[in-house]
Amino acid sequence: MYQALYRKWRPRTFDDVVGQEHITDTLKNQIISGRLSHAYLFIGTRGTGKTSCAKILAKAVNCEHSENGNPCNKCRSCLGIDDGSIMDVVELDAASNNGVDNVRALRDEAVFSPAIVKKRVYIIDEVHMLSTSAFNALLKILEEPPGHLMFILATTELHKVPATILSRCQRHSFKRIEPAALAKRISYVAEQESMKLEPNAAELLARLADGSLRDGLSLLDQCSGYETISAENVLSAMGLAGNLRVAELLETISKGDTGKALTIFGGLWSDGKAPATMLSELGSLMRDILMTKVAPKGGNELLSGGFDRGTLDRFAKNMTAEELIYGLDSVQAHIGSLRDGRDPKTTAELCIIELCEPQFGDSIDALKKRIAKLEELIGNQALSHKDTVTKEADNEMSNPWNDSVIQEPPKQAAAFAETEKAETAEEVFEEEFEAGNERNSDEVPSEEALTGGFWTDILADLKHTMQPGQYIIISNDSMAKGELQGDTLTVNVTNSFVKGQLEQTQSMECIKAAAQKALGRAVRIKIAEVKPAQAGSTNKIDSLSKFGNVKFE
Ligand SMILES: [Zn+2]
Repeated sequence: MYQALYRKWRPRTFDDVVGQEHITDTLKNQIISGRLSHAYLFIGTRGTGKTSCAKILAKAVNCEHSENGNPCNKCRSCLGIDDGSIMDVVELDAASNNGVDNVRALRDEAVFSPAIVKKRVYIIDEVHMLSTSAFNALLKILEEPPGHLMFILATTELHKVPATILSRCQRHSFKRIEPAALAKRISYVAEQESMKLEPNAAELLARLADGSLRDGLSLLDQCSGYETISAENVLSAMGLAGNLRVAELLETISKGDTGKALTIFGGLWSDGKAPATMLSELGSLMRDILMTKVAPKGGNELLSGGFDRGTLDRFAKNMTAEELIYGLDSVQAHIGSLRDGRDPKTTAELCIIELCEPQFGDSIDALKKRIAKLEELIGNQALSHKDTVTKEADNEMSNPWNDSVIQEPPKQAAAFAETEKAETAEEVFEEEFEAGNERNSDEVPSEEALTGGFWTDILADLKHTMQPGQYIIISNDSMAKGELQGDTLTVNVTNSFVKGQLEQTQSMECIKAAAQKALGRAVRIKIAEVKPAQAGSTNKIDSLSKFGNVKFE
């Protein structure tokens, strides 16, 4: 009979348990020293190893030759507990045995010493499902537990467990397993099972498993039909292959090829894909790209998991943050109008046209997107002038905006931008000059007078020193703004995500150095989160971070 991989590869010693060393090390030490509690409570999301650890602990306390805190899995006790023939170790699933009678029966038999092994162990899974009277019955035993008794309770929902029970248990919190640890274990199991699993497929499985080893191995099971398991095979086994076509659609949109984009959409539509689902997936992809862009070191935890890292990196290189934010806004607006009962197919087509050709939109965001395209073009021009001809050829390949999306001659656009910049600098100078005339040299300058000048200087410096992803954030005045007060430069940001990004040691050092250069003296750097009301209504990243969860149907 075929045995599911997650059962077959269920950990049998504490050392086999993945990613919960903070718990397994403690439990092993307790076994070695003999300082055991009579009641344990294991807390954590599904698939993180709670019941496996409970079984291992039950064996370890009864093992005849435990090794370094681990059960030997060979002695009479270990084997008897494993095959269920030793009745002194009882597993109860409160989700199905939640009656008070079960706990009463348990209470009656609990007084007897174990027949074969040292300790009678009750493992109660999903303990939060017990009824109130069952909890009361359990509490009675926990209040005066006989020495031969041990309880191991497990729950996914701590808040549903009564405080009276909690206070009598030693608590252990199981973490979601890190994607890297999951991928390693999944690869190991695949290898032992003689399955050919490509490394990026293992990473994808780990991300889809979302912290649960059980889910990760079940997913691996689902892919076992392929001779070699690639990332594409994983996606198609999960029914996510459509994602590849959504990625193709976005690629076409980013090139501004309206005709081709509508053809791809038509294909998805005739394959039965609902327009709402398609828009939602398109939004998810743009959100993931934006996350890749603004948090390049944020790791895979921020991503929805439907797209592989290679695809995201490729898009992140070719699309600007403004463009993605514009795209997300547009997609969300159209999903909204679908809810109002508009014709789904036409609405989705309109959305695609708007994304391909922002010149049809006259909203601020559409304009921003067009400006961002110009800026990028200018940046590339400057680069290709500076670098050699071979670099230029490189740019040609990787830059989708060279596909004549922009009608204005680039030279003219560059000249325009320079004039504008010069004006700004002049204004700032005048402002500072006037402010300077009104104050004594040793007076603390008013903040308003300083806001324009020094912050622009700091940003100009950061452009060369800071990581591009973080520079995008700090230079966007709807996300971050500098303010000088005495010896402290406060960077006011609009949300905690941005705060976390800027507070990283590396970016703090960059800001500090740039500030010292611009102000001519050392200042303290503080990153402060301000309420959206103070910072304007452009609290974009927060709303974007929730976008992945938008489900339409
Ligand atoms: Zn043993």
